Amino acid sequence: MSSPKTTFKDFYHIVVDSGQCCGCGSCVAVCPLSALSYLYDETLPVLVGKCTDCGVCFKACPRYNFNVEEVEKMLFNRTRSESEVFGVHHNILAARSRIPDVLKVCQDGGLVSSLLIWALENKVVDAAVVASFNPETWDAKPRFVRTREEVLSSAGTRYTYSPNNLLLREAGANNIKVAFVGTGCEVEAVRKMQYHKLRKSVGTVVFTIGLMCHESYTMNGLIDKKIRGELGIEPNQIAKMNIKGKIIIETKDGKVAEIGLKDARQYVRKGCFYCGDFSAELADISAGGAGAQGWTICVVRTDQGKNILESAEKAGYLEIEPIEKHKSSYDTVVKLSNIQRNRRAKALSGALNI
Ligand SMILES: Cc1cc2nc3c(=O)[nH]c(=O)nc-3n(C[C@H](O)[C@H](O)[C@H](O)COP(=O)(O)OP(=O)(O)OC[C@H]3O[C@@H](n4cnc5c(N)ncnc54)[C@H](O)[C@@H]3O)c2cc1C
Ligand code: SF4
Ligand code: SF4
Ligand code: SF4
Repeated sequence: MSSPKTTFKDFYHIVVDSGQCCGCGSCVAVCPLSALSYLYDETLPVLVGKCTDCGVCFKACPRYNFNVEEVEKMLFNRTRSESEVFGVHHNILAARSRIPDVLKVCQDGGLVSSLLIWALENKVVDAAVVASFNPETWDAKPRFVRTREEVLSSAGTRYTYSPNNLLLREAGANNIKVAFVGTGCEVEAVRKMQYHKLRKSVGTVVFTIGLMCHESYTMNGLIDKKIRGELGIEPNQIAKMNIKGKIIIETKDGKVAEIGLKDARQYVRKGCFYCGDFSAELADISAGGAGAQGWTICVVRTDQGKNILESAEKAGYLEIEPIEKHKSSYDTVVKLSNIQRNRRAKALSGALNI
């Protein structure tokens, strides 16, 4: 994955101008000159300072010269077998929190929040990098959480984008040992930085939890235009938002509104069409709903992920069921992994209407 000699201008043209940028913010986090800033509305990086073409940002970017096989060798000591459609893994199972407060606020089975609480309370990490939850706006921004209460206040899914990688600079600079939660594209960036040994940014990442993800939406499109503008629902009236074949919005007064995925397509962030990784294939542990009700579908990938999951289960934070009890969710992970990989290929070939 050596980066050919190129200029920042070329890099920006290849990744951002082309529409492929996933908005992870890793380039902003690693630039030694702080020459880049992040545009939250566009979920894109922008050059604001003097750039010396040093090339560090290219080494963090998951959409530039990314070689998944090289990363797999680094992470798993092997590449995926032909049958591993959703990436290298030890196991796939269903998990549910045993913490009642988590079950009240989580998106699916509360696996993610429970693992974070276990890791914080057992001092495996100092903090977790997650997405904040603003119930007034449903906006998502990266934040550190350090206590059970902070984890609970950031639980659940925001279907807009939170560039969690932006916090890696602060974690590295202050030697904060972190659990990193992010979508597949964000975990890809963490792995690319680890591959290139950008230790100032990822030297303190202890483990990663990847969120399965088919697409995410612009704030302006989904929240402002569609939900507030067309459906007449103020964001502060949303009790829960979920995607199960369609976008389902439950309001605080008990009503339910639905948005078809075809209708919502116009608000999908452009970079998501170039994404081939549904199940966060390079995370230590991947988590998704995959159609399951009240359970999180969990792919255990690395030895580190296996140890963490087993320890949290043994300590009573989680319960686990075999995937055989959730057969249709397994089929969903396989199906969406294939669809997403094909979508990326089509997007790159220009055959997709973006
Ligand atoms: C944009 C997006 C799209 C998704 N699409 C799918 C999908 O198509 N199919 C599927 O099976 N699963 C999808 N998921 C994953 C799913 O919604 C749940 O996050 C996952 O099942 C874990 O549930 P949980 O109850 O264990 O998590 P919880 O215990 O509720 O914890 C969720 C964690 O995710 C963090 N988070 C919330 N929003 C974001 C965000 N935008 N970016 C980064 N971190 C965030 C929270 O801060 C929290 O730490 C998506 C997630 C996101 C963020
Ligand atoms: S090439 Fe170097 S100086 Fe320029 S934006 Fe990237 S990291 Fe910063
Ligand atoms: S994909 Fe991430 S690292 Fe690459 S240009 Fe976009 S924001 Fe920067
Ligand atoms: S679809 Fe891919 S690029 Fe878009 S947010 Fe999800 S993981 Fe990132």
